[in-house]
Amino acid sequence: MVSRVIPVDVFDLVIFGGTGDLARRKILPGLYRRFLAAQMPAESRIIGAARAELTDQEYRDQVRAAIAEFVPADRQDPAAIEGFLARLHYVAIDATGANGWAQLKALMRENVVRAFYFSVAPSLFGDIAQRLSDHGIADAWSRVVVEKPFGRDLASARALNACLARHFNETQIYRIDHYLGKETVQNLMAVRFANILFEPLWKAEYIDHVQITVAETVGVEGRGAYYDKSGAMRDMVQNHLMQLLCLIAMEPPYHFDPDAVRDEKLKVIRALKPVPPEDIVRGQYGPGNGEAGYLAHAENPNSRTESYIALKVQISNWRWQGVPFYLRTGKRLRARASEIAITFKPPPHAIFDDASGWHENVLVIRLQPNEGMNLMVMIKEPGPGGMRLMQVPLDMSFAEALGAEAADVPDAYERLIMDVIRGNQTLFMRGDEVEAAWAWTDPIIEGWEARGDRPQIYDPGSSGPEDALMLMHRDGRRWREIR
Ligand code: NAP
Repeated sequence: MVSRVIPVDVFDLVIFGGTGDLARRKILPGLYRRFLAAQMPAESRIIGAARAELTDQEYRDQVRAAIAEFVPADRQDPAAIEGFLARLHYVAIDATGANGWAQLKALMRENVVRAFYFSVAPSLFGDIAQRLSDHGIADAWSRVVVEKPFGRDLASARALNACLARHFNETQIYRIDHYLGKETVQNLMAVRFANILFEPLWKAEYIDHVQITVAETVGVEGRGAYYDKSGAMRDMVQNHLMQLLCLIAMEPPYHFDPDAVRDEKLKVIRALKPVPPEDIVRGQYGPGNGEAGYLAHAENPNSRTESYIALKVQISNWRWQGVPFYLRTGKRLRARASEIAITFKPPPHAIFDDASGWHENVLVIRLQPNEGMNLMVMIKEPGPGGMRLMQVPLDMSFAEALGAEAADVPDAYERLIMDVIRGNQTLFMRGDEVEAAWAWTDPIIEGWEARGDRPQIYDPGSSGPEDALMLMHRDGRRWREIR
């Protein structure tokens, strides 16, 4: 199988915050890999912009070091790296001042795609958008890419949307949720909407429940003070887990078209029921395994911010009536594992005597590690001795199915940046989607703040707080193991 690489149009991409952590770890290594794959036309240019005074050469040296650190060794081709670095420029610019804007304007070319990546703190979005307009650098065809967090509640998200809308149309704004750029997440749509097999079963009549897990082994050390103002609900659920939930729960769009897809996702978010306190469990990792706990990492001994959250979420529409979606995400858990598991109901009547070996059908979509899908099905246990049942996985790991090509599956950022250049917004969040997500999230957070709830302490390396197990047990269900 040969993967098709279709080059995008020639572009000038300005990365505000081009010397920052995200640019070094994700954006620039991703662009290099697209250059290596011949998807980025050689005439394209990347312009780093930040306050530090650097020459083009000094910036190229920084990016060379970032590629050496963050691109796997087998993808480091010295000639390609030099070719890529030659496409880089740098402008010292102050987002909040007058410095550098005239130089940036002079650098931009006519008749190529212009994209502006705001890889800076959201508090600078307004200043940058304003100056791009004032200096006539952004035109009606320019695109702007903005990073999470997109607000910390509905009011701040609305303010951000309004500030971008003063200078750009919604069709020019690309709000990144990198989960949507993951191969398996897009495959979820292909599996649902390009096969007849699943869709007839995709409803309350046949689905018992859905579990969405995003588990991390790392804590918040190093960024504790920042994280402490956010917490798992704002940092993960409102955006990443919500997007995954939407892709599972949405109705088939009439076409794989940006607004058709996003219209359907928006309907799901609007149909989410408020979550009562008994359906929410929050946790904080304690000290253990020779490491400090959350409170020390957050440098806030009185913190009530959650590093773990589990929720039982219900969708009030015909398709999902009575089907719980259990969401959980947390830091310092047993393993780094993200997956969606759809558990089907039992057959209406059991014809086999051996009920002991029976398990539900489960469709498991793994996001990491080892992206792929698994369908758990019942078969006959091999050999003589009567009809005994056993469960086996029908496994589709991308690494196995696609062989060497799987190694070339672009990272989420690579794909999303190429989508920006192509002008395809399907995998980006629309402004009303983000606001609807906050409108559902805000009362949940306000509720626990008003009650003064404290998160439950859990052991590092565990699968989360005890109460999260009870959230499932009381419904006669259990979480899948985190591994
Ligand atoms: P960072 O490492 O602190 O980098 C910030 C960048 O912005 C630097 O290049 C900095 O360079 C530049 N900058 C700061 N103030 C500026 C100003 N007034 N004018 C022009 N440039 C300015 O931050 P980051 O981790 O890369 O994060 C960037 C954005 O991405 C944030 O919104 C963050 O929430 C988001 N994000 C980051 C990650 C991640 O993994 N890092 C993941 C998801 C989202 P100078 O100081 O030289 O100006």
